[in-house]
Amino acid sequence: MIPQNRILPCPNCRQMIYSDSDKCRFCDAPLDRQVAEVAAEVQEKVNEACNHAKWIRNMAGAMWILLLISFIFTAGTAGVFAFFFLIPLYLIFWQFKFGSLKTVDPDYQKAKRDRLIALALWLPAGFIKLLTFYVII
Ligand SMILES: [Zn+2]
Repeated sequence: MIPQNRILPCPNCRQMIYSDSDKCRFCDAPLDRQVAEVAAEVQEKVNEACNHAKWIRNMAGAMWILLLISFIFTAGTAGVFAFFFLIPLYLIFWQFKFGSLKTVDPDYQKAKRDRLIALALWLPAGFIKLLTFYVII
């Protein structure tokens, strides 16, 4: 039931260690099994949060590419609108699932930044599309 070899930052020196060890292999600080499992769980969530944030950012980047394509091929418009709805939904999902993680992990800070970048990319792309959409019609 308990997954082996999960990793967590050492509570003492922040180096990545395995949750099934009795002490930190970097600083020799003793590791409480209960504390380690909780920390490993947080670490897993942080990793997940980073991956999802990267995806959202990539989607927002792809939305810009689709936006440019849609000025040449009208078929691109459907893609832009798909991202226009998908990205905020994804952002809400991220916020709901990972927004309240308690960690000082720098990767998590980066994930939060990725999320903001996604929002900053999404907003103008959606605005430009809506604007040009009505101008064309
Ligand atoms: Zn340590």
